[in-house]
Amino acid sequence: MTDESLSSSSAGVAALLTQARDAAVKYLESLPERPVFPAPSFEAIRNLYGGALPETGRPAAEVVRDLAAAGEASVVASAGPRYFGYVIGGSIPAALAADWLTSTWDQNAGLWSATPAASAVEEVVVRWILDLLGLPPASGVGIVTGCQMANFTCLAAARHGVLRRAGWNVEADGLAGAPRIQVVAGAEAHVTIHGALRMLGLGTSSIISVPSDAQGRMVAGELVKTLAGLEGPVIVCAQAGNVNTGSFDPIEEIVRAAETKKAWVHVDGAFGLWAAASPKRKHLLRGIAGADSWATDAHKWLNVPYDSGIAIVKSAEDHFGAMSLKADYIEKSVNESREPLDWVPEFSRRGRGFALWAAIRNLGRSGIAEMIDRGADLAKFAAEKLSKEAGVEILAEIVLNQALIRFHGKNAEKDDELTREVVRRVQEDRVCWLSGTRWQGKEAMRFSVCNWSTTEKDVERSVESILKCYRAARG
Ligand SMILES: *Cc1c(COP(=O)(O)O)cnc(C)c1O
Repeated sequence: MTDESLSSSSAGVAALLTQARDAAVKYLESLPERPVFPAPSFEAIRNLYGGALPETGRPAAEVVRDLAAAGEASVVASAGPRYFGYVIGGSIPAALAADWLTSTWDQNAGLWSATPAASAVEEVVVRWILDLLGLPPASGVGIVTGCQMANFTCLAAARHGVLRRAGWNVEADGLAGAPRIQVVAGAEAHVTIHGALRMLGLGTSSIISVPSDAQGRMVAGELVKTLAGLEGPVIVCAQAGNVNTGSFDPIEEIVRAAETKKAWVHVDGAFGLWAAASPKRKHLLRGIAGADSWATDAHKWLNVPYDSGIAIVKSAEDHFGAMSLKADYIEKSVNESREPLDWVPEFSRRGRGFALWAAIRNLGRSGIAEMIDRGADLAKFAAEKLSKEAGVEILAEIVLNQALIRFHGKNAEKDDELTREVVRRVQEDRVCWLSGTRWQGKEAMRFSVCNWSTTEKDVERSVESILKCYRAARG
C-alpha cells in the first residue's frame, strides 16, 4: 500500500467525502431530466470499469473521480421519477442521508454487543412497522436484504412451526424422515417463493398450485377444495400485490380456509403490504392480521435505499426457533434487548435499521399513506391517459400501483410482436423505462409506480413517449 493510495488523515477523508457528496448532488440534480436508461452498450459500460487487476494502488481521490465519471455515464436512473420498470422505488432524501451515515458508522448490526445502537434502532422501527402495517405487536421481525430473504425467513419459521406441532425438530434433525410438509401456493406466486422453498429443502415440484382468476387472485373456493384433500403439516403461500396486476389474494377467506387444517398462512406482500398504511386502501388486505407470517420490502415502496426487506412472523417463538444461533463466544444481551441475529439468516450485516428509522420518522404515518396513495393514483392516471388512444388496452383492473398495457395493430395475430416492439422503442426513447411481461398468455407492458418523486407531469411525459412509440411501431 502506497502513501497516496490510502489517505489516512482526517483532512484526506473529508476531502474525499466532499468529492463524493459533490458527485452525488450533481447526479441527484440531474435525475428529473436525465435519460432514464444509459445510452452506452453493455460492452462499453464494462469497459468504463475495465482493465486488469491493479498491481499497485491509486490515490483515493482519483478512484472516486473515476468511479463518479463511470457511474454518471452508465447507471440507470431508477432512483428518478420516470422509472416504471419492475417494482423498484427510489430513496427519499432522509433515508438516503441516513444510509450515508450508516456506511460511515460501519456497524456490524448482527450482534447486540457489537452495536447496541443498531439493535436499539431496530427495536424501535420494528414496533413502528408493525403498527403501520396493522400486524400483531408481539410478532417477530427480521430486517433482511429484500423480499426474497423475507420469504425465506418466514417460510423457515413456517417449516419450524408446522413440524414442531407435528413433534419434529427440523433445526436439529433436518428433513430426512420428517413428516411431509405440503406446500400450497397460488398459481401466481412470485418466483422468490419458489426460491425460498428450494433453499428450505421443500422443493418446488411438489407445490400444490391453486388456480387464480383473471386478475391473478387466488380463487378461495379452489383453495378450500385443495385443502379438503390434505393431511398433515400444511403451509399456504398467499400474495398481497401481484407483480403484474397489483391484485390481492382474498386473505380473509384464505385464512378461514386454512384454519380448518391448522395450516400456516404466509403472505408475500413485497410492495402490496404497504396498502395497509393507507386508510383508503387497507381494505384490500382485509383479514391480513389472521395470517401467520408476512414478507415485505422497504426498498420498493417505502423508498429507502437498497437493500432492505422485512420478515414478520406472528409466532415470535417459531421465528426465533428457525433463526437463532447460539455460540459461546457471543456476549449475551442484557435486559432482554434485541439480538438482531436471532431473527435473520445472516450473521454479520449492515445496520439497515437506521435508514428505516429515518424514512418513517421523516414521513410519519400520514406521509407514508400519502406516498402510497399518490403512487396508486398515478398508476390509474397513466392507465386512463393511455387508454384514450384507440388500440391501447389496459389488461387488468388497476387496484394498486401496477398497470398492464397491451397494444393492438391492424393484424390481431401480430399484437404480441407489436407490444414487444413498443416496449423496445420506449426503452430506446429513454424518456421513461418500462419492462415487458407476459400476462395470461399475452405480451404486455408493465407500468409500475412506486417512486416518491414521480409527478403527474412525469406520467404525462412518459405517456407521450409511449404513444409516440406506439404510433410509429403500428405504422
Ligand atoms: C419484488 C418482489 C419479490 C422479491 O423481492 P426482492 O426485494 O427483490 O428480493 C417478492 N415478491 C413480490 C410480489 C415482489 O414484487
